[in-house]
Amino acid sequence: MAVKTRWVVTHACGDEVEHDLSARPADRRAGYARWLSGRDCTDCWRAQRDGNRAEERAAWIAGRRAEEQQAAAAWAEQYRMPPLSGPEKILDWGERCRHQLVAAAYKALVVEGPLTEGRWEEVEAQARTVDRAGWWLDQREAAPVDLPELLEAATDADRSTENPY
Ligand SMILES: [Zn+2]
Repeated sequence: MAVKTRWVVTHACGDEVEHDLSARPADRRAGYARWLSGRDCTDCWRAQRDGNRAEERAAWIAGRRAEEQQAAAAWAEQYRMPPLSGPEKILDWGERCRHQLVAAAYKALVVEGPLTEGRWEEVEAQARTVDRAGWWLDQREAAPVDLPELLEAATDADRSTENPY
């Protein structure tokens, strides 16, 4: 009787999978089937691998976010931007949005645009008065060149009265 070529292996993950071992010499099949039984089946191995990738990606995003947060905090300090007000859970996010928008606006309007430094200082002064985190969050999709107009449209509700700036 010939040694069978199709082996049903119970993998480490618990799944039963039929393997075609005809490509292996007859005297190696049992050993190979045993080796296979010590490992997860292909589907489970893939799922595990994809899960690891998702975790790595999440860790990468968290790292990037922490870097941006640091940059936003350093920037706020340098340009005397006030702490934002609003629900605790959106404060950091609002700070990142403010940093990104104002920095991008400076680049678009002054570095690459027609705005003078003097006029920009006015824009920046106005940006200092708007300290509601939600306002900055709402502008996160805005075109940077629109910042002066957006700031003009901000209302007293977007400014806290005890704002010292
Ligand atoms: Zn499996």
